[in-house]
Formats: sequence, C-alpha cells, structure tokens
Amino acid sequence: MNIRLFKPSFGEEELQAVKEAFDRSWVGLGPKVSEFEQAWQDFTGAKMAVGLNSATAALHLALAVFRFPEGKKVLVPSLTFSSTASAILYNRLVPVFVDSDPVTLGISLEDLERKYDKNCVAVMPVHYAGHPVPMEKLMPWAREKGLKVIEDCAHTAGGMYKGKMLGVWGDIGCYSFEEKKLMTTGDGGMMVTNDPELFKDVKAMRWVGIDKDNWKTAQTYTQADQDAMHWYYELNVLGYKYNMNDLAASIGLVQFKKLPGFNQKRSQIIRQYLDGLENLPGIIPLLPYEPEKYPYQMFGIRADNRNELMIHLKSKGIATGCHYTPLSIQPLFESFGRNCPFIEKEADRFITLPLHADLADAEIIYVLDTIRAYLQ
Ligand SMILES: *Cc1c(COP(=O)(O)O)cnc(C)c1O
Repeated sequence: MNIRLFKPSFGEEELQAVKEAFDRSWVGLGPKVSEFEQAWQDFTGAKMAVGLNSATAALHLALAVFRFPEGKKVLVPSLTFSSTASAILYNRLVPVFVDSDPVTLGISLEDLERKYDKNCVAVMPVHYAGHPVPMEKLMPWAREKGLKVIEDCAHTAGGMYKGKMLGVWGDIGCYSFEEKKLMTTGDGGMMVTNDPELFKDVKAMRWVGIDKDNWKTAQTYTQADQDAMHWYYELNVLGYKYNMNDLAASIGLVQFKKLPGFNQKRSQIIRQYLDGLENLPGIIPLLPYEPEKYPYQMFGIRADNRNELMIHLKSKGIATGCHYTPLSIQPLFESFGRNCPFIEKEADRFITLPLHADLADAEIIYVLDTIRAYLQ
C-alpha cells in the first residue's frame, strides 16, 4: 500500500479542455478566465469574482485594495497556512495572532476580543479544514469595531452556512485551486466581493497595472473601424503578475462541474472515518465534523501519542501530515508574539489522514484497520 495524503482527481475531460485552449492558441489571460469568473460569481452569489494565479495572490490583493496605512494591525488565526499571515506582511501591516476555539479550531471569538485594539483594521477568519467560522457572530462584532473582513476560503468551495455561501459573508472571500484543495487548476485562486467598488482596481492590480481585455482587442484587430491606437493603455495603479491564465481556467471550468461530486465523495469518506474511529482510546476527530452539511478539504484526528502513531502509519504505507504548526511559533512570525497558548500546545496532537475524491473503499478500510490495530 502507498496511500497519498492529498491527490487531485482528473479525467479525459480536463485534457480535452486543455487541448481546446491549445487549438485556440490562446493560453494567457483570456475568454476562459472570464467564463470561469462568471461561473464562480453565479455559484457563490457574489457580485464580482476575479481569477488569480493563487489564493496567496488573492489574499495579498484583498488587503491591498483597502490601502491601509503602513503599520496597522490585522487579526489572523495562528492556526493557518503561511499565506494568510504573509499577505499581511506583503502589505507592510502587522499580524496579530489569535488563538483557536478548542472545539472547532476556528478563530477564537473570545481571544479575538482580547487581542483587538484601536490599531486593528481588519480580521481574516479562516474556515479551517472547511468548518465554518460562526460568521453570524463575527460579522456584527467586526462591523461594530469598524474592521474589514477577509475570509480565507482555501479549505472550502461550496460550503453553505446558514443559507449563505462561505466567502460572501465578509467584504472579500479568497478561494484556492492549488492541487491539494477541493478542486484544482494546478495553481489558481479566485477572489469575490459583493461590493464591486472595492474591486475597481483589482483587474489592473492582478495584471501589471493594465485594465484592458486583450482577447477582445485581438478579435477585432483587422477590422477597418478598429482604432489604430488599439495598443494604447494607461498605468494608474501598481500591478502584479497575478492573473489566472486560460490554460488554468480551462481545467478549472471542468473541475468546477465535478465539484459537487468531489465534495459528496469527501463527505462520504469522512463519515466512514468518523464511524470507524468512534470510541477508540487516545484519539478523537480533529473537530466536530458535519460532513452531511459542509464540504471539508481535510480530515484529521487528535492523538495522545501523535509521533508514534504517525511513524507507525508511515511504516504501513499511509501518508499523514500536520496542519499546521501554528504560525505564532514559526521563526518568521515569532517576533509578533508567541501568544496563542492553546493552539501552540494542542497542534502537537494533530494528524491529518488521507482524504481525496479518488480514495478507494479498500484504502479507507486499510487506514482504519491500521489505526485500530495500533491502538489495541
Ligand atoms: C492553500 C492555502 C492558501 C494558499 O493557497 P494557494 O492557492 O496555494 O496560494 C491560503 N490559505 C490556506 C488556509 C491554505 O490552505
């Protein structure tokens, strides 16, 4: 056995979509990106969606659009991937790390209240593993304090919470299509908002400062009525090379159609894990999973003898991981304070188990049997 922790799921359809992009000989920023953006906008119910080459880029631009004064503070959970907090540093802002709720592992609303001060300008809730942050409580609190809210939705895509999709509760939502996520474009990301005014410069910011549709220009290039000044553009904002391209968007449009099926499969696997791991000594599920309600990117457990169990699973050909080492104890971020005592200790118990849409029944049973045998 050699069971991977994460694995993208592809078929002939993705290959065909890539071939079509080749046949058009248009693989940069183009019509497929626009089509994918429209699909994502309809799917989330957001007023505007913009395609990027990663969620890291989305998080960077999400903070950048507010043009916060240098040195202001942004509240971010310690338990997240590097990018959420790196985006704060890219913008010359200061991360304030917030501890986790002991049960859900999402950002702790109590610690949020404790860590807030008048210099805070934004909060970045992460729907960790796909489990929703209680946005109906966080939003009124953030509004009362005048904080902007950026949702890191890298672990969710299609998660409905209290009738509204995760990603459209705050000011901006950022999704990831990196290969370990719920659906993939190789690398890719999407940012959404219900306030298009916020995004008025985003298309220029993602494409080296240019806000122009080159595909449309190319289509009408040789028409007599086409202005010979078609090449002209103005630079008004500092842009980055962060655009999604048509190759990625072509793959994304196919994966998007498969997303409901992927999510359903992941939910079934999590239900099998939960049933199979019930009442085992020394281990509990990572969080209160509700797989029939929400899609999850990650399944994990908390184990008393974490390292020994991990080594045992490795020896049996089962890949595991730990998501994550809390950022407040990473050397890069340590100077901002090692001040999230619960999660800094609790993360030592985390084991992420294999979860992906192609995981076979026999593999799930093998993982469960291996854990059970070890605990006997
Ligand atoms: C993967 C991930 C990101 C970054 O996504 P990319 O598309 O790889 O840039 C950000 N936040 C979290 C929580 C992630 O898991």
